[in-house]
Amino acid sequence: MSYEAYNDDSLGFATKQLHAGYNPAEHNRSKAVPIYQTAAFELGDYDRCVRLFSYAEEGHSYVRFSNPTNAVLEKRIAALEGGAAALSMASGMAAISNAFLNLARSGDEIVAVTTLYGGSTTLLSSILPQYGVIGRFVEDGNDIRAYERLITGKTKAIYLESLGNPGMNIVDMEEIAELAHRHGVPLVVDNTFATPYLFRPFDHGADIVCYSATKYLAGHGTVIGGLVVEKGGFDYRNGRFPQMEQFYDEYKDSIGGEELRKTLFTKRLRIVYLTDLGAHMSPMQAFFLLQGIETLSLRMERHTENARKIAVFLDDHPAVKQVAYPGLPSSPYYALARRYFPRGAGAILSIRLKGGREKALAVLKKVRVFDYMVNVGDAKSLIVHPASSTHFGQSAAQQEAAGVYNDMLRLSVGIEDAEDLINDLKRALD
Ligand SMILES: *Cc1c(COP(=O)(O)O)cnc(C)c1O
Repeated sequence: MSYEAYNDDSLGFATKQLHAGYNPAEHNRSKAVPIYQTAAFELGDYDRCVRLFSYAEEGHSYVRFSNPTNAVLEKRIAALEGGAAALSMASGMAAISNAFLNLARSGDEIVAVTTLYGGSTTLLSSILPQYGVIGRFVEDGNDIRAYERLITGKTKAIYLESLGNPGMNIVDMEEIAELAHRHGVPLVVDNTFATPYLFRPFDHGADIVCYSATKYLAGHGTVIGGLVVEKGGFDYRNGRFPQMEQFYDEYKDSIGGEELRKTLFTKRLRIVYLTDLGAHMSPMQAFFLLQGIETLSLRMERHTENARKIAVFLDDHPAVKQVAYPGLPSSPYYALARRYFPRGAGAILSIRLKGGREKALAVLKKVRVFDYMVNVGDAKSLIVHPASSTHFGQSAAQQEAAGVYNDMLRLSVGIEDAEDLINDLKRALD
């Protein structure tokens, strides 16, 4: 076969999710991507060892920083995302935290929104500050001037989520990307709830995308994993990132200046942080993720179709005070959803109940098809009370800033029969 589907950028999303980045001819013609279950690789001879360790030759030596199974996953997600390079990490939080470490040093700041995944908020508000990296929070993510007011010479990134958790809020990404670039700062986006099938942040100005691959990319609630993807082309040698310039000078001769300029963020993330902090994904996890991604488009279509039906049903139900789903015309984010999410506004939604916390807990007790779990993005439908779980321990003010209330339930809509899901909620709500 001479046709090389693994390397054809003109192919569509569904074709790429099955073929991109994997050439069987390089792996004994195994049709499935092999799991390289080894801790290390033979170096061959002295000269090759030196080329590997100076990064003059691409290859694998030790699995804390690279593995051929992971390399296929990295190429595949980069192809689906329209990015230049990617890195596979042990979890979503490993991906996000290492991305920040790569961008910011002691004394630096990250500008972020308040409506973030709980772990990301904790990272920026209490963990990184212990090392001198401070998160600066924008109260209203849709107020562009609020971002601008926080940007200083110390700012090293703007960080937000394409679909906020759990309020499913949407920002005007192109406007924020333009602002970031005007200040020489990259826009970093957590695209976990959307996946590249529903939304490709690079097409709208983002520079770095982070994933909790644990969710829709894996798709079946069986693995923990994270990914960082780089668009390529952001100028990290613009004077704001001395650590990037130093890295560039150190490696430009062995790696090559052109290649290094295109993927400087990813190269430094692997060579500095994967190598010495070691939060790499295991090859077995990478295999499960590749398996999940093969059906991503099909699952996301069904997820969003089910979510839309459920949102319409809930919006009409007398026990429901409010439905937060950007696909509903009543949502304040409806116009942004139509512009940025033509394939559907995801499959996570939250509801507030007229009967308050008591009613919310009663619904939790009564559902039979929805599972009571903190996870999201599983093929199975999940439900949770965020105030007592994912956002537990936060003050009422912090919860409110994140869009979390005592009378609120968050639903992650699965790919079951929509009718069964609606009947389940109807029984519980009635
Ligand atoms: C789950 C999640 C994370 C953290 O990912 P893990 O894989 O659990 O470490 C980060 N961001 C969002 C939006 C998430 O849903």
